[in-house]
Amino acid sequence: MARIDLVIPSLGDKFKDSRDSLPGDSFNWSWIRPLSQVNYLAIHHSASPDNQSVEEIANYHISNNGWGGIGYHFVVAKNGDVFYVGDISTARANVANMNEQVIGICLVGNFTSGRSPSNEQLDSTHALCDFFINNYPDLSNVNSWEAIAGHKELPGQSTACPGDTWSSWRSEIIKGPPTSPSTDRSAEISVLQDQVKNLQASLSSVNQQVFNLQAVVQEKDQQINDLRMVSSSPSEAESIPQRQRVDTSLTIVEALVNLYKFIFMSRKADAIGSS
Ligand SMILES: [Zn+2]
Repeated sequence: MARIDLVIPSLGDKFKDSRDSLPGDSFNWSWIRPLSQVNYLAIHHSASPDNQSVEEIANYHISNNGWGGIGYHFVVAKNGDVFYVGDISTARANVANMNEQVIGICLVGNFTSGRSPSNEQLDSTHALCDFFINNYPDLSNVNSWEAIAGHKELPGQSTACPGDTWSSWRSEIIKGPPTSPSTDRSAEISVLQDQVKNLQASLSSVNQQVFNLQAVVQEKDQQINDLRMVSSSPSEAESIPQRQRVDTSLTIVEALVNLYKFIFMSRKADAIGSS
């Protein structure tokens, strides 16, 4: 028996292994293929009421199509439960002439006339595909979101599956749900921590600059004080009065000289007059 068990942590208890309990053969029908043959994660809709169960789908495939078991590998219910219904080591029946190349994932519902999968279905389908693309190296050719294909997009398929709204929700499967608040906050905290670190570095640099500028200001202040001291030093202070004193002395000396000349000339005149 080919049996590949899967553990998909991101789905938690939404992942239901129904391979053993489901009507039909989940393990050997239709044929065993190496995982290296898988190129696509094929997305289908069940084109049925929203509440159709995996058992009902399996029974339909067995009794109506005459198959040995359910044609898909996974079925995603409206509430986001993911049922593992056909072992991925088997090729099964969901994309004509390409069954060995696909893992068939069926979203329960009919996505025509404007109807789309529920958010829970889209989120779980994202988690399932993300697991195969990013965490399951055994699928060596399924390693990017390019591996996602609507049934009708695959070569040679004449079907409307997975419905005419497919192009509007394909990107939702790729994008996944918005980041949960807790994860969001931790990312925010990390960004803020980086900002604080950068601001602290800036602050430290500014502090150093302020310190350097304070040293320069102190030096200039000292120079100004020195200059003030020089301009108000005693020698400088005295120099002006000294000059004034000199000037005054000169005036007195000049006055005395003139007086002397006046007296001398008067005596000389008297002497001439008397001679
Ligand atoms: Zn299909």
